Formats: sequence, structure tokens, C-alpha cells
Amino acid sequence: MELALSLEFQNYVAGGWCSASSAARFKNHNPANWDEIVGNFPASGRADLDRAIASARSAFAEWRLVPAPKRGEIIKRAGDLLTQHKEKIAHLMTREMGKTLVETRGDVQEGIDTAYYAATEGRRLFGYTVPSELPDKFCMSMQMPIGVAGIITPWNFPLAIPTWKIFPALVCGNTVVFKPASDTPATATRFVEILLEAGLPPEVIQLVHGSGNAVGMPLVEHTGVNLISFTGSTEVGKQISAAASKNLKRVSLELGGKNAQIVMADADLDLALEGVLWGAFGTTGQRCTATSRLILHEAIHDRFLGMLIKRAEKLRLGNGLEADTEVGPLINFEQRERVAEYVKIAKAEGAKLETGGEPFATGACKKGAFFSPTIFSGVSAQMRLAQEEVFGPVLAVIKARDFEDAVHVLNDSKYGLSSSLYTRDVNAAFKAMRDIEAGITYINGPTIGAEAHLPFGGVKETGNGHREGGWPVYDFFSEVKTVFVDYSGKLQRAQIDNR
Ligand code: NAP
Ligand code: MG
Repeated sequence: MELALSLEFQNYVAGGWCSASSAARFKNHNPANWDEIVGNFPASGRADLDRAIASARSAFAEWRLVPAPKRGEIIKRAGDLLTQHKEKIAHLMTREMGKTLVETRGDVQEGIDTAYYAATEGRRLFGYTVPSELPDKFCMSMQMPIGVAGIITPWNFPLAIPTWKIFPALVCGNTVVFKPASDTPATATRFVEILLEAGLPPEVIQLVHGSGNAVGMPLVEHTGVNLISFTGSTEVGKQISAAASKNLKRVSLELGGKNAQIVMADADLDLALEGVLWGAFGTTGQRCTATSRLILHEAIHDRFLGMLIKRAEKLRLGNGLEADTEVGPLINFEQRERVAEYVKIAKAEGAKLETGGEPFATGACKKGAFFSPTIFSGVSAQMRLAQEEVFGPVLAVIKARDFEDAVHVLNDSKYGLSSSLYTRDVNAAFKAMRDIEAGITYINGPTIGAEAHLPFGGVKETGNGHREGGWPVYDFFSEVKTVFVDYSGKLQRAQIDNR
């Protein structure tokens, strides 16, 4: 894989790199310095999508018959290539979406881990055999490929999230039409190049750049697409669910979060402090699992808040390519305005601004979409700041009377992705594991930290019940076929001839 010197990037449709049929293009900027253009990308539309879907449909006929372990070998090679190019991809990703190199390396590593897990899953894809209730009859279930998978991804994990979806989709024998986020199309393009270099047959993957309206929704609505895997906002997720239901299309939705960390009076406060700093301000708060609420037991509230403000004020903002940067920019200026709007809302609701609350535009940061790490105290559970996803470096601190109150506040949310409890009380820890309404609960760790081989996803309006990561995602990308083989040589009627 060579990083193209040209700024002109392409779609990959029907086995070839090409522009949009309209020849229209959109620009991708570096959010740390908006003057820097990362690339120009095809602004595709319906005609491009039709061609991609037709090609993916025809490729399915052969790809479904390639043995799953062989499909897995291609994914293994993709993992090797990601490993080989990890540093280059991380640099590109930092330039196109801003998070620090430490984090973009982690993003690529998650893709590598997902590849190696997926490669071995090609040798499992377990069905089961069970005894029949009739003599001389054999029963089993098998995992079958489904067809064309439409993949729509967000910009905050430009490589990891596409790999969570595309590797399992391919191992299960589906072909893929991939529409990446418009803010991170370059990393997506590198990923597709790597799949091809790894030996994926050309028409098995299709890459169609373009906006959610021009490409995303038409992909969901298209009758040539069998299933949709989407990660993004709850608002768009609901639109996708409604559109897909018209022809009963299978849909997996990974949506928003309003994740909370609870700190009890008996917790290791230094450990809890490291956790919340990483959880709230890592990726500039733009993670679906970001800590956006901090629930403090009243006995340690003032002390912990003081410790936190001191550390948050020392966080170094800057270009993510620089080694000492701890917090990069927001994804774009629109997002910065949205964050500033939430600061206004929180003030008007009566929350107390402890630190931050302003765009950060001094020195080298003046051309970037930076925002100071922001902490509000005195937040009550009903405030918009405590209920709505901000997707920025804004932390709402809420005081709790005791453990039950803390869990009650944590659960008082329409979202349910990640959650965290810091305590030394083993009984409280187990009650939290049982009672917290979330897809993921960490004990003595921050709300961040998914691993490739464990299920990932949330409850309530965070999703529609599916999981990525681990083994459940292979069920999403497969259809179950149940098979009966009767070798008795006669008609055996179930429920009748054995009674
Ligand atoms: P978004 O606006 O919902 O966009 C996500 C993807 O959907 C992008 O590719 C986008 O295209 C596309 N899209 C936009 N409108 C669409 C439409 N009407 N029909 C079909 N596709 C459409 O979300 P985002 O701003 O990129 O990402 C932030 C959100 O993602 C947050 O809410 C965050 O919590 C969530 N997220 C969730 C998880 C999880 O696993 N639960 C992980 C990461 C992020 P364009 O880029 O062209 O607009
Ligand atoms: Mg960009």
C-alpha cells in the first residue's frame, strides 16, 4: 500500500477506482488546522450506488461459496497489512479527524485485533447438531451468508468501527457496500486498499463516498441490499430503522450514549481521577462511550471535584501529531458550535461552570476546532446537560447521597451504552453489575476500553439489541438454516408417527 501523493481520492466500484458519475467532489479538512486539505473525495449519488450494489450482488454468487476458513485467511492478511502500515494509517487518521497519535494507533490496533479474531472465526461459525425425536433422522443448524451488507460508519473511530462490521460481514460470506463518514473518508479508503491487497476479490467490496442523504439513506432503502449495519447518532438510527422496516431489512444500530462514572466514598480517588480524565476528555469527548456524567458520593464530592478541576486545567490541547498533546480538536466547527450551545444551555439551567466553557484558539490552535475541557458542577439529573449527548469535552458532575441514589441517577437516561463504578466494596460492585442499565459496565475502570473479542453495544436508545465485537456479530451477519436429513427410507411424520 502506498499513501497516494495525490489529494484526489476515488470510490471503489465494480472492481475499479473511479470518480462519482457526476464528477462532483467534497473536501476533507484537518480539524487541527482547517486550511489543510486532507483530500478531495467523490460526492456520489444514486447512480454510483446502483452500480456498486449491482456489482456486489453479482460477486455474492461466488463469494458465498468460498470456504469460510479461506475467507478468514484474507482477513488475516489484512490484519498483517494493518500491522505493517499501522504508523502511516495512524498519522493519516490524526490529520483527518484530530485525535492524538496515541489514540489513532489504538484505533488501528483495534482493527488488527478484530482482524485476527475474525480470521479464526472463519474456522468456527458454529451451527449445532441435536438428536431428532424420530429414528434414523439427523438434525442440524448452519450459518449461511445473507447477501449484500450495507455498512454506514461514523468518523470518531475511522478504522476500528468499519473493521468491526466489515471483517465479520466478509467472513460470513456476504459482500459489502461501504459508505464511510464524510469527515473520515481517507482512512476508509486506505482500509479498502488493504482489503484488496490482502487478496479480497475485487467486487466483494464496494466503497461509495458521499453524504448521508445522497448515499447513506438510498443504501438503506435499496432493495438490492439485504442488511444494514450502522453506527452513529440515535437520531439518524431511528430514521434508518423506520426506512429499513418498509421491506423488513435486518438492521444493527449502535447509537448514542450518555455514559456515567460513579465514584463512591471508599474508592481509590487517584485511580478514579485518572479514569475520568481519560473517559471524559480522551478523543475530546467524542466517543460513544465517553464519560459525560460524573456521579460523586457526597462525602468525597468537593474534594474529588477540586482534584479533577486542577488536572483538567493542565491538559495540553494541540495538534494530535505532536507528542505532548493530550487533547486534540473537535471534528469540525459545526461540532464546536454545538458544544458551545450546550455550555449556554447548561448555564441557563443553573449548572455551575467550574472550568473551560470556551473555544480554545490561541497560538498554534487558532485555525483548529479546539474547545477547552469543560466541567459543570451542581448538575441535576433532569437538566438537558445530564440527558443529551454533547459529544465534546464537557463533563456534568452530579452529587449522590448514597450507592442506591448514584445507580438511580445513572439509570435515569434514555441511553445505556457504557458505565463505570469506582469502589472497594465488593458487594456494591456486584449490585452495580446487576442493576446498572447499560450494555457495558466497568468496575474500577473508566467507561472506555472495549476489547475486540467481547460483545459491544448498549440498551435502551443506544441500539436495537444487536452487539458488535466478539461472537454475537457473526450471528447478525448470518442467516440460520435448519436442516433435517431423514435416512429411514420412509415418511416419518413429526409429532404424529412417534406418538
Ligand atoms: P451521524 O451523523 O449519525 O452519522 C453517522 C453516519 O451516518 C455517517 O456516515 C453519516 O454520513 C451517515 N448519515 C447521516 N445522515 C444519514 C441519513 N439520513 N441516512 C443514512 N446515513 C446517514 O453520527 P456522527 O456524527 O458521524 O457520529 C456521532 C454519533 O455516533 C454519536 O451519537 C455517537 O454516540 C455515535 N457513535 C456510536 C457508537 C456506538 O457503537 N454506539 C460508536 C461511535 C459513535 P455523513 O458523514 O456523510 O454525514
Ligand atoms: Mg476531516
